[in-house]
Amino acid sequence: MEIALIAHDKKKVEMITLTMKYYDFLKNHNLIATGTTGKLINENTGLEVKRMKSGPLGGDQQIGSLIAENKLDLVIFLRDPLTAQPHEPDVNALLRLCDVTKTIVATNVHTATFIFEHLLKDSKLEEESKTK
Ligand code: PGA
Repeated sequence: MEIALIAHDKKKVEMITLTMKYYDFLKNHNLIATGTTGKLINENTGLEVKRMKSGPLGGDQQIGSLIAENKLDLVIFLRDPLTAQPHEPDVNALLRLCDVTKTIVATNVHTATFIFEHLLKDSKLEEESKTK
């Protein structure tokens, strides 16, 4: 799967905790992230992440263009709804494109966890059926 990971500043710790928890799942997929989020995930987990520009400098738009082309399977965007973002239009545009293309998107950590648990269960079932 092609998975995008983005976290606003106050959500970066949650993103690192999340990616640590699902390391074994994530290491088998292609990860792409905005600049700072990707750097922190890589430094803290060792996961390989393709990094775009930082969100406020166009990274959200770069990921948005991949969504528009249907190149992403899942977007985890831990956004901070309590802090004004200078690039709010880019954030809205990215989420809008997820709805346009019906791309699966999580905007908070509980939804992200729910999706990862589902995917993990699916991949375990697939493994089991291979060994039978
Ligand atoms: P960042 O961007 O990962 O470069 O901090 C995230 C964002 O604010 O969209």
